[in-house]
Amino acid sequence: MTQIFNFSAGPAVLPKPVLARAQAEMLDWHGSGMSVMEMSHRGKEFTSILEKTEADLRQLLAIPTNYKVLFLQGGAIAENAMIPLNLLNGKSADYVVTGAWSKRSVQDAQAYGQINIAASAEAQGFTTVPAFNDWQLNKQAAYVHYCTNETINGVEFLTVPDTHGVPIVADMSSHILSRPIDVSKYGVIYGGAQKNIGPAGLCLVIVREDLLEQASSLTPAVFHWKTQADNQSMINTPPTYSIYIAGLVFEWLLAQGGVEAIEQKNIAKANLLYHYLDQTDFYDNAIQHEYRSRMNIPFRLHDESLNDAFLKQAETQGLLQLKGHRSVGGMRASMYNAMPIEGVQALVEFMQAFEKSNS
Ligand SMILES: *Cc1c(COP(=O)(O)O)cnc(C)c1O
Repeated sequence: MTQIFNFSAGPAVLPKPVLARAQAEMLDWHGSGMSVMEMSHRGKEFTSILEKTEADLRQLLAIPTNYKVLFLQGGAIAENAMIPLNLLNGKSADYVVTGAWSKRSVQDAQAYGQINIAASAEAQGFTTVPAFNDWQLNKQAAYVHYCTNETINGVEFLTVPDTHGVPIVADMSSHILSRPIDVSKYGVIYGGAQKNIGPAGLCLVIVREDLLEQASSLTPAVFHWKTQADNQSMINTPPTYSIYIAGLVFEWLLAQGGVEAIEQKNIAKANLLYHYLDQTDFYDNAIQHEYRSRMNIPFRLHDESLNDAFLKQAETQGLLQLKGHRSVGGMRASMYNAMPIEGVQALVEFMQAFEKSNS
């Protein structure tokens, strides 16, 4: 069988050793006689899984003790609505729009209060990040929201703007755990699991404790961060199996040497593809270089009539799910932590061969 490399944007590739371990533990977790799926979420077995998962995540991201880690459901899109409900408290909020996901965050928040667009790169076709100096930030805002990696557009940034003490709320769905971050610079970090963490169905919310006191009384209990923080994310039944797999991914990451080590691998993978894209006219990536994403790399064939042939031939080579998002077109290679460099090498070799036979 051809070796398969899965470039899906999400749900996405998971580390093979994690899947193998889940398989080995599927019917009988650690001699309990039960699958993790069958366990009471309040029993001692699952409690130990949840505690280890949180501890490993805290170690990976060096999460300070004054931050709570919540394991919620509904994905990042549910949180888009729950952020204003938990934080606005009668104030306004500033949003920076750098791509499709942060634009969506604005739409999801607007029903709950005054949402201001502090800056937008839409006029530039979402190929850049507006300069921090140009962000129209309001010192009285409840928070500033942005997306640090735009999965669809392929724009990433991690330098943190000075928001004059206004808490930053960051959607990190598609690059969390791909590189070190300074959690203390953020008020809230959130992300759906199905990009770089584990299976769909789980959303991580990392929130500074002092921000837990301003939720609207309309906030549903399952999305009420303080209620969930006070109840170990168990005001309802949490997505137990997704949490378990996320825990296995965290263990795998620690064994890889943590986020510092995985960052080096991610840099090497991204460099390989960008370097090739930059020395050919056959393909093109339009993102301003300093904001190019390491995780999601959109590119176009100069001759778009070759798109179908490209995708079909890629698939026969075992290179799957390279089609770009329907709103952007072209191609997209998502290269999360679990994508080995061999996958990117195989992709570049295929792209070179395709270029050669079509020019
Ligand atoms: C995928 C994604 C989302 C949406 O996640 P859901 O789990 O579908 O709610 C939001 N933001 C970013 C940056 C994403 O990559």
